[in-house]
Amino acid sequence: MEYAFFEGDFVPIESANINIKTNSFHYGTAIFEGLRAYWNDREKQLYILFAREHYDRLLRNAGALFMELPYSVEDLVSITRELLIRNEVRQDVYIRPIVYFRDLALTPKLIGYTPEIAIYTYNFGRYLDTSQGIRVKVSSWRRNDDNSIPSRWKVAGAYINSALAKTEALMAGYDEAILLNSQGYVAEGSGENIFLIREGRAVTPAYNEHILEGITRNAVITLLKNELLVNVEERAVARSELYTAEEIFLTGTAAEVTPVVEVDNRRVGKGKIGEITAQLQDIYFRAVRGEIERYRSWLTPVYEK
Ligand code: PMP
Repeated sequence: MEYAFFEGDFVPIESANINIKTNSFHYGTAIFEGLRAYWNDREKQLYILFAREHYDRLLRNAGALFMELPYSVEDLVSITRELLIRNEVRQDVYIRPIVYFRDLALTPKLIGYTPEIAIYTYNFGRYLDTSQGIRVKVSSWRRNDDNSIPSRWKVAGAYINSALAKTEALMAGYDEAILLNSQGYVAEGSGENIFLIREGRAVTPAYNEHILEGITRNAVITLLKNELLVNVEERAVARSELYTAEEIFLTGTAAEVTPVVEVDNRRVGKGKIGEITAQLQDIYFRAVRGEIERYRSWLTPVYEK
């Protein structure tokens, strides 16, 4: 039996349904998260990656939309562990929590409604091709401006922007879109942050470039600095830098560390996964599975030992 956490209880996934009149379904006034848990076969243990960081972001984003839930970060981490145990998950899994207004009401507003949280799991492997790298296209759609629809929050309605860009890229035969912000600087992918390697240094759009404040972005900055001894510059990145970068990769919970081998029909570097990207992937994939002792603090074990 597959369960979801829905309206305060663990229920069979088939019963975790909302009414079509649900307010947030109409206006996109929901906040969601995406987490991964990785199966370590040698230890027979499932590790949730950055559980606290994701639930902390969820509660802060929800708070900004006046959605006060009766749960703490710790409560949500234990609910997620219980859900994974009930679903007997013994493989890599994706976890999707979503906070929404359950009210059957018409007005698009954020006050006077009742927030609810649902959490469910997905069995899914790679989101993008991490082993060969991907081809990307600079989108004709601009990233939504933080002063219109906050790009730094994971707000459901904002994902029309991602959907338009991703669809345009897929229909043109590419794997992913890169969105520029309204000032014309590089923002991010449709569901990933972006890094460039230039003259041996890593460059990534700063927080004020209308991007999501990615949790993987932070982890990767740590790994670049501490493990690979690569400097990281957080700044405005011009579109033209994409065409001369030595390496490019995307980061995200779903995308993990995805190499970009082509941008707008121009090869990135040699058109193959770059050296720094490959080393970063190796460390990242070992860290998230609990294979590097000093990054165990990133992980929450699910099963009691
Ligand atoms: N940007 C966007 C637009 C995203 O949807 C995501 C996925 N959450 C990311 C970046 C990467 O964020 P994180 O590393 O926290 O998953």
